[in-house]
Amino acid sequence: MNNRKCNIEGCSMEANYKAPSSPDELNNYIWFCLQHIKEYNKKWNFFSNMSADEIEEFLENDIIGHRKTKKMGAHNKYFEDISKISESIFASFKGFDKSTINPSLISSKYLNALAVIGIDNKDVTLEEIKTKFKKIVKELHPDTVGENKKNTEKLTKVLEAYKTLKEYHDNFKYS
Ligand SMILES: [Zn+2]
Repeated sequence: MNNRKCNIEGCSMEANYKAPSSPDELNNYIWFCLQHIKEYNKKWNFFSNMSADEIEEFLENDIIGHRKTKKMGAHNKYFEDISKISESIFASFKGFDKSTINPSLISSKYLNALAVIGIDNKDVTLEEIKTKFKKIVKELHPDTVGENKKNTEKLTKVLEAYKTLKEYHDNFKYS
């Protein structure tokens, strides 16, 4: 809970939902009640002007922002642990000759991440992954800026999958 009031003039509801004030100020939020965040998001199709990488950065801030202010649930803790583990795996990959990495380990992690974002073609290009990522995020986002726990968890999962796929494309040139 917080003491913020909704940004809409004349609305005295508590503001538990935030949105960036402009595409150029992704860390600068304005706060709304549930009804007004929905209207705000509907009016301004925020993500349509952003690249997949910009969306990724925004979600990172958004989700991390939530973690700071909200008590972490078991699922968030889980995703945080998973992300720490994958970071350390990637970190350890970087100094290695890529030909020595077990390809089955790579492909199962890669395929799992593809499944999370709903792609069943392992030869998909990075551009196609980005397009799909943007589409999912656009569908999920309006309710995730607030307290919709289910969507927040799904979004966290999608974001982790996207990062995994991007890392693999960067490191192993699948595209
Ligand atoms: Zn309001």
